[in-house]
Formats: sequence, structure tokens, C-alpha cells
Amino acid sequence: MNMKEQMEQSEQSILHTYNRFPVVLERGEGCCVYDSQGKKYLDFAAGIAVNALGYHYPGFDQALKDQIDKLIHISNLYYNEPIIEAGKKLVQASGMAKAFFTNSGTEAIEGALKAAKKYAYARDGHAGHEIIAMNHSFHGRSVGALSVTGNAHYREPFEPLMGGVRFVDFNDLESVKAQITEKTCAIIAETVQGEGGIYPASLEFLAGLRALCDERDILLILDEIQCGMGRTGEYFAWQRYGVMPDIMTCAKALGGGVPVGAFVLGEKAAASSLAAGDHGTTYGGNPLVCAAVSCVFDIFERDHIVEHVRELTPYLESSLDVLVEKYDCVAARRGAGFMQGLVIQGRPVSEVVNRALEKGLLVISAGTDVLRLVPPLIIRREHIDEMVSILASCLA
Ligand SMILES: *Cc1c(COP(=O)(O)O)cnc(C)c1O
Repeated sequence: MNMKEQMEQSEQSILHTYNRFPVVLERGEGCCVYDSQGKKYLDFAAGIAVNALGYHYPGFDQALKDQIDKLIHISNLYYNEPIIEAGKKLVQASGMAKAFFTNSGTEAIEGALKAAKKYAYARDGHAGHEIIAMNHSFHGRSVGALSVTGNAHYREPFEPLMGGVRFVDFNDLESVKAQITEKTCAIIAETVQGEGGIYPASLEFLAGLRALCDERDILLILDEIQCGMGRTGEYFAWQRYGVMPDIMTCAKALGGGVPVGAFVLGEKAAASSLAAGDHGTTYGGNPLVCAAVSCVFDIFERDHIVEHVRELTPYLESSLDVLVEKYDCVAARRGAGFMQGLVIQGRPVSEVVNRALEKGLLVISAGTDVLRLVPPLIIRREHIDEMVSILASCLA
């Protein structure tokens, strides 16, 4: 079957909620993937910031195979070794207190929202609390996560969603202050906005949120689903700012490609929020995915992945800045570490993305006009050079 036939067959049975790229991908190796016709693509999308270790990183596949041979699933009714290891390593990397593993990012957000509501409920003895969320944010597609996602287009068809959410402007502390009420129990933000267009939080904003939350006993929820796990040159982007959240959400790169997320509570939230019976999941954090999480942390430590991101970031940034200088259609670069965006003007960003695909480079967009670069964290200089050379030919 050729690719066109494969695509047609896919459309016959798979609900069309994605306008997919016209390519059928078959396998990956290192920082590249191959389509079913054998064509090679340099991967600067990484399965949307998931494949932090690229494809077939030494030791990763074997760890999964070993776990498959022991136990894939057993339910959260029983203790097991992989979740013990994964939990220990996640708590250690974050310096936070307690983790709950989920199947996805959106479920991590659901859990974080429930934890914040339960914290306020336990304190006040009643429900009815509100959440402050950011315009242009993205937190997922389930009803609760959608309720705090600052994109009306995603939300509108599904209204009424969860009530009690007030939207404010990201990086604008005054707009947050204007919306805080006696009922506010949490403020949720991405440390670096991803889908919205790659906007890092300013230090002033994040530190300001922390201070506001401390003053008013409001919980700060930082969504690290895209920007966490080493992407910005720290395990978690908030560590760059020295601002610890009360609740953090993780997913995407956490399991190196297997579906797993987590919400992690700091001491305060852990001590007084979700208790036995308040939350659960059948699959969440099962032995197979936790073996992956545990192995990802081991590899990060052994091979200094986070340090590598930090070391190579200046080279990535200066290489992209050359494109900003050279091409009128590239208005600006924004980002942190290996989470970078190029603002494209005068032509649709999709045109650049599609041309790149034809020329053997996977990149994706963010927001309305941003070309997003979220490569595997293991890229080297030569991958950056190749990416820049292909992009240059697409922009010319
Ligand atoms: C991808 C993403 C989510 C949703 O994660 P899913 O695993 O797709 O449910 C939530 N927040 C942010 C910041 C994301 O990038």
C-alpha cells in the first residue's frame, strides 16, 4: 500500500479530529523518523515535546521489555516496585512532596484542580471556590482542563464547562490582582506557555504570583507538561525562577513516549488536600509506564541530559537568531532552552511547516503565527545546523 492509500484507509475508521500531515511515519532512530516509504525526517517536533530521548535511546527499550516480562498492569490497589521508584525520582527532581501518576496531561490537570479545591474545602469547611487561569493558556481537552484553557474557540462548543473560572492576562500581575476574590483557591499557569505561542513567564510575574498566593493562602499550580522534564535546561522550568509551585503538573516527556502524567504536591497541599477515596485511576502509574518514568530519570542523571540542554541552548538560540536577522518573514524568536518559537509574518506558518516536511524536517506550529521547535533533548550541533539549513531553504 502506498502512503496515499494508507491515509485514505485511516480516514475511513479514525474520527477526523486532526488535520494530519500527509505522511505515514513508521519508525524512529536517534533524532530522526522514517515514513513508510523509507524517507528520513529530522525530528524537531518530538511527538509534541514527548520524545525527549529521541528513538531507541540506549537502555530505554530494554527497561520496558524487562518490565513487560514481569508485570504490565496490576491496579493501584497494590504496591509495586516501578511506582515506588518513579515516585521517589519525581519527588527528588522537583523537591516537592507527593506525586499522583495519571495517564495524560489533561488528567494531571484534573487532579491538580481537584487537589486545590479540596485544600480550600478542608480549610473553609465548604465548597464553592474559584480558579484563576490565563488567557492563551492550554491545559488539555477534558472538561475540567478545558475550563481553565484560555482559548474561547476550544471551549465554546462545550459550554457550560466547570464554573468559577476567571481569566486574566499572562505576565500581567495587575490583571491577576483585579480578579482575586475571597473565593479564589488556585491560580493556574504554564511556566512557559506552549500551545499559545511559546511565551515564557517573566520572573516578575512568577515571583509576584508566588507572593500573592502566599499572602492569601491560594495554591499556585504550574503546568510543566510541555516545558518540564529538562526542556528549559532545568528539570522543571520553575526551577529557573526559584519559584516553587504548590502543585505541579507533568506529562509529555515524563515517560519518554509512553502515556503517563503526574501531578505533584508540595508539603502544604500534600498535608491537607486529597485523601484516601478522594481520587483514583485504574491505569494511572501502572508498572509499565512507571518503569519508563524511572528509566527516563536514570538516563537523565547518568547521561547529564539536563546539563546538555543548558550547554547547547546558546548555540540553538544564536543559530535561530541568524534566521531572524536574515529573513523578513521571521519577526522574532522567543523561548527557553529547547522550547523555542519563531514568529512568522507575511505568510501562514503552516506554509513553512509543510515545506519543511517536504524537505525532511518535522516542525510544528503554536498559536496563530509561531513556528515551534521542541526537539529531542539529545540533539547535537549537527542536528541544529541541519535544521537551520532546511528552515532557511523554506523561508527563502
Ligand atoms: C499537552 C499539554 C497538556 C495536555 O496534555 P495531554 O497529555 O494531551 O492531555 C496540558 N498542558 C500543557 C501545557 C500541554 O502542553
